[in-house]
Formats: sequence, C-alpha cells, structure tokens
Amino acid sequence: RYQQHLYNGTRDELVEAVHQQLRDKRFNHCLRVEQTAIQLAEENGVDLEKASIAGLVHDYAKERSDEAFIGMIKKHQMDPDLLNWGNAVWHGIVGAEFIHDELGIDDEDILNAVRYHTTGAVEMSPLAQVVYMADYIEPERNFDGVDEARQITHKDLRAGVAFQTKHTMLYLAEKNAPIYPATLLTFNRWVAQKQ
Ligand code: GDP
Ligand code: FE
Ligand code: FE
Ligand code: FE
Repeated sequence: RYQQHLYNGTRDELVEAVHQQLRDKRFNHCLRVEQTAIQLAEENGVDLEKASIAGLVHDYAKERSDEAFIGMIKKHQMDPDLLNWGNAVWHGIVGAEFIHDELGIDDEDILNAVRYHTTGAVEMSPLAQVVYMADYIEPERNFDGVDEARQITHKDLRAGVAFQTKHTMLYLAEKNAPIYPATLLTFNRWVAQKQ
C-alpha cells in the first residue's frame, strides 16, 4: 500500500488500473520504467514510492483517442497551441490530467514528472529527471547509444538528462519532425547552458 496522500490503494491496484488502459507491450514497458525509476531514485535520494507511481503511470493516457485529448485540453482550458500537436506531445502533458481525474493522483511532483517525461522542461525536479531518464534507458530500449546513455545516467543523472535532450533533438531534426517549443527550451537549459 502506498502512502495515502500519493495514491489511495496498493501497488497491485495501481498496476491493474494501468494494465486496463494499455496493450501488454506498453504495459510491460511501464513496469520496466517503474523498476528503472526506482533504481535511479535509490541512486539519487528520490522518494521510492513517487518513483514507482510516476514510472507506472507515465504512459497511462498514451492509447487514448485524439478526440479524448482534445476534449481534455478544452475541459481544462489548457494552452490552445496544444491543439496543433499530437499524441507524442499530448500523452504526457495532457495525460497528467487523466491521471489526476481518473486515478486521483494529485501530488504535483508526480504529475509534473509525467507532464515532462517526453519533452523535458526547463525546471525538472529530481523525480522528473528520474522518470525522464528511466523512460529512455529502461532495459528493453535498444537504440544506438543506449549503453552510453545508461552509463552516463547512472554516473550523473543531470548529465543523462542533457544527453537524452541533445540526442532527441538531433533525432527529430534528422527526420524533419516539428520540435515542440518546450523541447527547445529544455535543450537551451540543459544542453546549451548546462549548469
Ligand atoms: P514513449 O511514450 O515511451 O514511447 O516515449 P516518449 O514519451 O519519451 O516519446 C514519445 C515520442 O515523442 C518519441 O517518438 C519522441 O521522439 C517524440 N518527441 C519527443 N519530443 C518531441 C518534440 O519536441 N516534437 C515531436 N514531434 N516529437 C517529440
Ligand atoms: Fe511516453
Ligand atoms: Fe522519453
Ligand atoms: Fe514511456
């Protein structure tokens, strides 16, 4: 059972709630992100229950329809520019609102970790850094450079954030993908400025 102010239920209940929303493949990814997040949390003095919860739920909304996201953006009067983007950007930033409304999770540190897990952010708490990196280096990730990413991250979490941010930017530029403004701001803060 988690501390009640974080989630009003047991880990098994939260795992089941996440599984109900996701195909097995993505659900299993969430379990691996949870385990990696717990490991990074131990290494960095971050709350283990928050790491567990945030890791489990980070992709909770990823299989919702575009219509569901658009409805949520309007319901919560979120930035209208979000409507110009799609699932990749929505499932974290807007997904946090589904997690809040449906799972009753209202810890802002956990919700921000979900919000920032795809694009990063100028200000990321240690928990948000842990989730951002756990999603990137969980054991079944296998892109070029993932071993270097793991090594850097376990040595220095903030250096891992800079590494991922730079490589995601390069990856998006290489495929002529639009770069979400928050991703650019993350780059300027964590890669170009780095302090
Ligand atoms: P996943 O949900 O576990 O697959 O991983 P993420 O949530 O980290 O990323 C989802 C997708 O968003 C990936 O394909 C990223 O490359 C992509 N992504 C990250 N930042 C941006 C951005 O600024 N613009 C666009 N178009 N895609 C992005
Ligand atoms: Fe994601
Ligand atoms: Fe990610
Ligand atoms: Fe993920």
